[in-house]
Amino acid sequence: MFNRSRSNLAVWFTLTMGSILVVFAGVLYYRAVLNELEDLDRLLYQKSRVMAVNAKYDLRQGQLDLENVPLLGSNLPPLGSELVYARWYDTKGQLVQFFGTTPKAQLTMTPGFHTIKTAPHSSNKTPTAIWLRELTLPVYQDNLLIGYLEVAMPLTSTQNNLAQLRLVLLVTVPVTLGIIGLAGWLLGGLAMQPIRQTYDQLQRFTSDASHELRSPLAALISNAQFALLSTSSNPAQQRQRFEKIVDITKSMSTLVSNLLFLARHEGRLPPESLQAVDLKNLLQQLADNYATADAQHLSLTCELPPDNVKLQAEPDLLRQAVVNLISNACKYTNPDGKVLLRLFTQSRQAVIQVVDNGIGIAETDLPHIFERFYRVDKKRSRKTGGFGLGLAIAQQIVQAHGGKINVKSVVGEGSTFQIVLPLK
Ligand code: ADP
Repeated sequence: MFNRSRSNLAVWFTLTMGSILVVFAGVLYYRAVLNELEDLDRLLYQKSRVMAVNAKYDLRQGQLDLENVPLLGSNLPPLGSELVYARWYDTKGQLVQFFGTTPKAQLTMTPGFHTIKTAPHSSNKTPTAIWLRELTLPVYQDNLLIGYLEVAMPLTSTQNNLAQLRLVLLVTVPVTLGIIGLAGWLLGGLAMQPIRQTYDQLQRFTSDASHELRSPLAALISNAQFALLSTSSNPAQQRQRFEKIVDITKSMSTLVSNLLFLARHEGRLPPESLQAVDLKNLLQQLADNYATADAQHLSLTCELPPDNVKLQAEPDLLRQAVVNLISNACKYTNPDGKVLLRLFTQSRQAVIQVVDNGIGIAETDLPHIFERFYRVDKKRSRKTGGFGLGLAIAQQIVQAHGGKINVKSVVGEGSTFQIVLPLK
């Protein structure tokens, strides 16, 4: 599935970039053609101007003098570059003088630049047909039309330059397309990575959740079957079975609530759900609750600052996070142990610490304990009703408030869980 999406991404990327590249190459080639023609036309015009200014028309005698016109007259000043032909037509379009191939007696072209193809001619120096750029220029003397000059130059060098450009484009465009395809494939891979990670996480989560639900469901079925089948047996035993069913159902309900909680509270909290919360007050209440309930067998002390510590938070969620840490501290600390709940501020941050001198966590387990369903000792956790979700929930809540949670622990000495929340 991921490979198909990846190749789809690569194909679409290559098609999009490739189309842009081909259009770009087309525009580049078109501009090059225009530039080459412009250069050639300028040269052709310059040459024809040099020829035209040397033509003299005697108004009184009505005689045209082409003697000093390069190529057409007998005084031939050098013109610099070869013209294939030069022709002079009179004002009526009749041929007067020419140089190069024999032209038609009548002027056929309209004034301006033309691109023409010569017919292959055996008497020609070049027996094959060649392309020419021709200029038909009306020549004026004192605003009076004295004739038409027709000159032409071969397009060979222009064609050669364009052929070279075509070759370069023919090589570079497919190579660049290949590179774009490869880049598309690599980028597709990069884009797929977080999706694949989320997908794997989700799959692991679903399989872990199903696995967690399977055992209590199996226990539920077996207890229910036993209770049903043994209607005649001892009512005390039957009652015990029903109590077990209630316990299992309660634990399943807790698990489902935890799963729902994790699914619902993903990402940062919207600002409208936050309100001013006094952490000192919140922790004091929690410590009082624990002193009379869960932590009866332990000594739970509180170290709170003299002033209130106020921040923007979702109070129920924050309470849940701290409760998870305190209940873990109580669960994983022996009856004569100590649990300390501490609050202080440092550099615009509120720090909540839950310190215990319980069993501690091995270094190898520390990087994993915030993962969903991770338990260091499955048997012990299950005995205390843990699913390995308490820390994942606490972490998700803290992150939703823009804070951080971390732990320091030494096996046999105890653990310190710390929540750091921004005060602004
Ligand atoms: P659980 O529901 O199993 O307690 P948690 O996510 O709350 O799941 O904790 C994950 C694991 O981290 C626990 O199984 C436990 O092994 C370890 N742990 C958490 N808190 C403490 C603590 N204060 N002392 C020792 N181990 C702890």
